[in-house]
Amino acid sequence: TGVKVGSFLSVPLIVQGELIGVLNMSHAQTKAFGEEHLRMAILIAGQSAGVIQRFLMYEEMSRLAITDPLTGLFNRRHLQEHLAGEIHRSRRYDHVFSIAIIDIDGFKELNDAHGHGLGDRILTEMGRLMRKHARSSDLTSRYGGDEFVVLMPETDPGQAARAGERLRAAIAAHMFPRRKKLTASVGIATFPSDGTTAEALVRKADRALLDAKKNGRNRVLVSS
Ligand code: GH3
Ligand code: MG
Repeated sequence: TGVKVGSFLSVPLIVQGELIGVLNMSHAQTKAFGEEHLRMAILIAGQSAGVIQRFLMYEEMSRLAITDPLTGLFNRRHLQEHLAGEIHRSRRYDHVFSIAIIDIDGFKELNDAHGHGLGDRILTEMGRLMRKHARSSDLTSRYGGDEFVVLMPETDPGQAARAGERLRAAIAAHMFPRRKKLTASVGIATFPSDGTTAEALVRKADRALLDAKKNGRNRVLVSS
């Protein structure tokens, strides 16, 4: 850059014994830094390290607060928040979007027969499948228990049904841990034709899911 560096002072930023960065100071003149500068740099470094540490901790806590630990998917709370935002946007711009509720078929039986440990591993694997088959604009979440919700922006009922069918087929074809085969049922609802509030949409998708279960499971049903 054409700027001559005559003096250079570097102080490590250390938080709980861990190096998280460095604070560098330079000066065009040689021998520009003395004892007093070093003392000041150390003081600034110490305070910056504390601020950075708190920021990193805050970021990690924010991430954990919206993540389901078993699957790594977003949790129900985050889905609810995102759903409220999506309704707001879609109403304003006159767009459609769909939600799909996916529920594993006969999961209780598998749990009872093979234990919660295997059940948990299967849920983790379901999370992986869910992420793999979602589009980057979709939001995948664990809604609770063996229930998952995918929020699909700009997606009409026909497109949502095809996405749901792809996911259903992928689950049915997948070999889960301990060579287990599983199926899942899917219920779909679309904004605004099936409802204009989060509660109404979830209720409609849940209703469709229930019908999918009643009609023999391992299938996708669209509301209405
Ligand atoms: P259906 O086909 O009607 O959905 O039958 P189902 O047996 O899957 O019934 P349901 O969805 O109501 O049961 C969910 C079961 O999921 C109940 C519980 O045993 C199991 N489950 C819920 N949360 C967890 C979890 O975190 N870990 C494990 N291992 N099992 C869970
Ligand atoms: Mg189930």
